[in-house]
Amino acid sequence: MAPSPGLAPTPWPAPMALTEQAAVVDDVTGELVGWCLPATPDGAPHDVREGVTVRRLAVLHGHCPACGAALVWGSRRERRRAAAGGRAPAGVPHVPHRPTCPGHDQVIDAAIARWHAAGGAP
Ligand SMILES: [Zn+2]
Repeated sequence: MAPSPGLAPTPWPAPMALTEQAAVVDDVTGELVGWCLPATPDGAPHDVREGVTVRRLAVLHGHCPACGAALVWGSRRERRRAAAGGRAPAGVPHVPHRPTCPGHDQVIDAAIARWHAAGGAP
């Protein structure tokens, strides 16, 4: 099926930041068909690996295994309506991790920055 007008296909493979997560949604039905999630880097320090893994598990299971925060996203109906109108799906899926969670944006960003500063990041 051709993509909806106004929606350009994403070039693939696309480089992803370690904190980036993208949902793949059927243009017509609004059904979630998959996720594009970064892999946990083998050589990263524990706090980076933990943060990436917790974030991945949170979207796959609908809640964070570390802090319990739930995945927040529009409903299938909202996604279907957005697709029918040629718009991007309603809302960006995200998990509002608690500030002490290894998956929280600031916690994992700090861990990645420490890894870069130590010269270990690729
Ligand atoms: Zn969390």
